[in-house]
Amino acid sequence: MTPATFKTALAAQGVTLSTQQMAQFQRYFDLLVTINQKMNLTNITAEPEVYLKHFYDSLTPSFYLPQLQRQALTICDVGAGAGFPSIPLKIVFPQLQVTIVDALNKRINFLNQLAGALNLSDVAFFHERAEIFGNKRSSHRESYDLVTARAVARLPVLSELCLPLVKKGGQFVALKGQLAADELATADYAITKLGGKVQASPAFTLPETGDQRQLVIIDKRRQTPKSYPRRAGMPNRKPLV
Ligand code: SAM
Repeated sequence: MTPATFKTALAAQGVTLSTQQMAQFQRYFDLLVTINQKMNLTNITAEPEVYLKHFYDSLTPSFYLPQLQRQALTICDVGAGAGFPSIPLKIVFPQLQVTIVDALNKRINFLNQLAGALNLSDVAFFHERAEIFGNKRSSHRESYDLVTARAVARLPVLSELCLPLVKKGGQFVALKGQLAADELATADYAITKLGGKVQASPAFTLPETGDQRQLVIIDKRRQTPKSYPRRAGMPNRKPLV
């Protein structure tokens, strides 16, 4: 996907990009591949792949959650790595208030540099594990309109990292490749226990390659019990299933 076809594919979804936003994506691409030579941020470095599999892919939640396009939502992106999906969302929908939490400091350093280069406001970066960021003593707990996560963990684990951060009435969206047949069913126990309910799980394909993708959109219906998330590492070691 070239920058030009990226723009056209988004326009087909009703998302229009200005010259300035296109320049921000180009700057993002340049910085990503330059810094990636010194520190490992991504395996995807060819321009057409970055535009499709990082930039376009990151924007797909906005096709299903129209409030992302209009409202000044508070978003927490758990394990954003080099900024996906929240930085592309922030570039396209600048009214969003973005918080990123990632356990790897080198990625947070990259994001600080990126935010400066792209002149982004209302972005905050935290070097922390999600289990601590969302625990019962944290001011971030149950405080976000929307929590996002892509390529961080399987759904039962991810739900424990993400749902405690969502305010009641808010949502958690997981960006997945083709979901393993049992992943959603296996996650049902964790999602319910943590106060969530699956609202929709739209499956679709990316343009050009036809790669399979699926979003899992979870409504936060009830407060998460105080005992979750468990201490760092536990959600992964002993998933709630
Ligand atoms: N979301 C990005 C993307 O889609 O390109 C990055 C994915 S990368 C495979 C996973 C990221 O999640 C890493 O940056 C890692 O440091 C972070 N991560 C994994 N477990 C975490 C946890 N418990 N708390 C915070 N960050 C975590």
